[in-house]
Amino acid sequence: MSADNTLAPLLPGATLGVLGGGQLGRMFVHQAQGMGYFTAVLDADPTSPARLVSHHHIQTGYEDPQGLAELARLSDAVTTEFENVPAAALAALAAQRPVSPAASAVSVAQDRAREKAHFVACGVPCAPYAVIETAEQLAAVSSDLLPGILKTARMGYDGKGQVRVKTPAELAAAWDSVGKVPCVLEKMLPLALECSVIVARGADGGTVHLPVQRNLHRDGILAVTEVFEQNLPPALAQQAVAAAVSIANGLQYVGVLCVEFFVLQDGSLVVNEIAPRPHNSGHYSQNACDVSQFELQVRTVARLPLTQPRQHSPAVMLNLLGDLWFAHGDAAQTPPWAEVLALPGTHLHLYGKRDAKRGRKMGHLNITAATPEAARATALQAAALLGIAPF
Ligand code: ATP
Ligand code: MG
Repeated sequence: MSADNTLAPLLPGATLGVLGGGQLGRMFVHQAQGMGYFTAVLDADPTSPARLVSHHHIQTGYEDPQGLAELARLSDAVTTEFENVPAAALAALAAQRPVSPAASAVSVAQDRAREKAHFVACGVPCAPYAVIETAEQLAAVSSDLLPGILKTARMGYDGKGQVRVKTPAELAAAWDSVGKVPCVLEKMLPLALECSVIVARGADGGTVHLPVQRNLHRDGILAVTEVFEQNLPPALAQQAVAAAVSIANGLQYVGVLCVEFFVLQDGSLVVNEIAPRPHNSGHYSQNACDVSQFELQVRTVARLPLTQPRQHSPAVMLNLLGDLWFAHGDAAQTPPWAEVLALPGTHLHLYGKRDAKRGRKMGHLNITAATPEAARATALQAAALLGIAPF
């Protein structure tokens, strides 16, 4: 579906709907409400983070026709915070209300094989890969792709649905272990670092972006994001922004898109994957930029003008995983918030999740300062207080 640039903006007072009630939906709701919109959230979980703060909540699954009809009735426009929303649900909603991003774009992001084909079509290099859907394709895999990572084509997040393999026998066993679902095998690349870019694209095709984020993952989960000038060589940062914009343009994308990249040891840039929504690595923008990724999302859904965000403070973001709620062993503890917030420039964001579990994203801490050195120093102090390993 091509972008429709004929619709007038939805002004404050309108209702914005969101599929999915996770933390990203909650921060979208907070932002929309702050700008004077009403909100509606569809999520089956009565305790979901966004449900707790939204004006309206529809407690059904993503495929429930009545739930979708109710969301359409309540909302003037709809977006998604969860990339695995069935594309059919977005398409059904789009018959009644403007939906961004469109089902066609979200469905590309949902499937690693289609995603990679799109990168190739845009001329942006990605890791060498093979699609594995049949035993014949498994047998035909080139040994050049080993050692590699077998990734399920659909439904992966936070490193789930991934198996690292060194030999054809390990590959066959790994494909067995994921139930022989469609997968891609990616060559394991020698990473120097990882980065990502948040792009917002309006219905008129105009784009703006946030500065390039430098990301540290631990156990397949984002742990730390650092954003300040010279966090990456400027030419590389420019290349990442240009690649992200061309990926968004190629999808006729409307909304906020995150593009994740690898920087290899030889300095080259390789795209990893896209997320059709705000992203964990863009959370620093809430406190370090004059327009956050959630404001960009509200503006794209409401078809308001996009203006280029400006980062006003160097920033570090620390992810707060459920592990911090456990002392040694399994005894529950409350992280030392008062001590952390006594450090200058610390901004706490918690998602209102009732139960802390190891590896579960419970919140994040943004640290801003006048200089990158000061932001890093404070972030390291906060990390030490919280029991997060230094970086
Ligand atoms: P999320 O959705 O949380 O970003 P994911 O489950 O979709 O994660 P990926 O982004 O594919 O997973 O991979 C998670 C991490 O594993 C990457 O950020 C990177 O650290 C590492 N990784 C993935 N693919 C490769 C590769 N081909 N070579 C080297 N490292 C890789
Ligand atoms: Mg990823």
